[in-house]
Amino acid sequence: MTDCIFCRIARREIPAEVVEETPSVLAFKDVHPQAPVHVLVIPKKHIPRLMDLSEEDSALLADVHRVVQEAARRMGLTDDGFRLVVNNGPFAGQAVDHLHYHVLGGRKLGWPPG
Ligand code: 5GP
Ligand code: ZN
Repeated sequence: MTDCIFCRIARREIPAEVVEETPSVLAFKDVHPQAPVHVLVIPKKHIPRLMDLSEEDSALLADVHRVVQEAARRMGLTDDGFRLVVNNGPFAGQAVDHLHYHVLGGRKLGWPPG
């Protein structure tokens, strides 16, 4: 058990607008959306960063990607597309040390990111 904020959301101790849930993965709306659709997809297991993933997380990662697809479908992003972002570490601005995938869509997004 950790008191990390996303672990607490995964345990439903902190409220969130849940979009999709499986036994291993949760998708919920970002509290400060950066686009009309901004969903975070997390493994329920506490993995701090992408660089902490290991071979044993392979099936979990497949689950995460399936939930990304399902969340994108549910939020109506299939045709226009969307961006999937993982901030890893300080230079990327990772603020929450629990691996999370940003699903951003609903408008044309700029590239490159800032
Ligand atoms: P990072 O910068 O670590 O990649 O992204 C963290 C994201 O988590 C930010 O977009 C921030 O708005 C979101 N966030 C932080 N705390 C909460 C929270 O308590 N609930 C929800 N739904 N999103 C959060
Ligand atoms: Zn955590």
